[in-house]
Amino acid sequence: MFRRRLHIESPKRFNAGFLLPLAAVSPRLETLIALVAPMSRSTMEEGSGEVGSGSSSSKPKSALHIEGYPIEGLSIGGQETCVIFPTLKCAFDIGRCPQRAIAQDFVFISHGHMDHIGGLPMYVATRGLYSMKPPTIFVPASLKENVERLFDVHRAMDQSELKHNLIGLNIGEEFQIRKDLKVKAFKTYHAIPSQGYIIYTVKQKLKQEFAGLSGNEIKNLRLSGVEITNTVTIPEIAFTGDTMSDFIVDPDNADVLKARILVMESTFVDDGIPIEHARDFGHTHLFEIASYADKFQNKAILLIHFSARYRPEEIEAAIAKLLPSFSSRVFALLQGF
Ligand SMILES: [Zn+2]
Ligand SMILES: [Zn+2]
Repeated sequence: MFRRRLHIESPKRFNAGFLLPLAAVSPRLETLIALVAPMSRSTMEEGSGEVGSGSSSSKPKSALHIEGYPIEGLSIGGQETCVIFPTLKCAFDIGRCPQRAIAQDFVFISHGHMDHIGGLPMYVATRGLYSMKPPTIFVPASLKENVERLFDVHRAMDQSELKHNLIGLNIGEEFQIRKDLKVKAFKTYHAIPSQGYIIYTVKQKLKQEFAGLSGNEIKNLRLSGVEITNTVTIPEIAFTGDTMSDFIVDPDNADVLKARILVMESTFVDDGIPIEHARDFGHTHLFEIASYADKFQNKAILLIHFSARYRPEEIEAAIAKLLPSFSSRVFALLQGF
């Protein structure tokens, strides 16, 4: 494919100084610059991206089904990340706001890099356009004020209401999103303030001491004001957003490693890019994930945020090299590659 041939050898090879005044270059060169020239760090982000095939308009691959959950969306390092669990009505990060994200009632933003938050006003505006109920958006507490200002600017420009509930969560804070679901923010280690989210299922379970009673006896106890149940919370889904592998060894993140499904970044996957480079930009390398394999108690691990430098076969080949006992639990979100 033509785009493939515009391969850049190193993410650091170009810098902003490469950009010439467009008036000074031929239209043909202008196009080439637009295709290969660096977006600034804030959009290209952290050395993760190169010009690859990634695009939300690419042909969709077959949908992922993991541990009983359909999973949609796409995630390409430096370009866009939005991972959707439609049965929970949840989207993790919003990326450029893929169409399927609009139907989700809850969005969890991991950090302020454009490839994760850029589509947020579009998401809110589109839900308003379709008269859908205002969404609930979770952001790191440190981002809340700026996100409010962002919406104020858009309201000033288009005179729309942009209705939504914005909730800032600090690391360790929880919020009940549904009677049977709660979310908790956990610490991640990125180049800018960031956090991940764990979704827990919340269930009421009959206390052991009442297990042998009849339905009527239990009912009477309840009506007399006796607390007959315990609340049981189970970590179901954890989403890291962008982070170095340090979150894995953070003792406060034990539930992340126990969640039924862990969605985590693995921006780099082979020895073309060393671990140090991944760390320099606040990212995780697949080699680090492999070295921590025995720490993950998750039923499934969905890897996301691969650099656009990779072809899907390269990502699959890298995962296939993991120990078989581990790789059988590891999946890759390749939509858009
Ligand atoms: Zn990113
Ligand atoms: Zn980032």
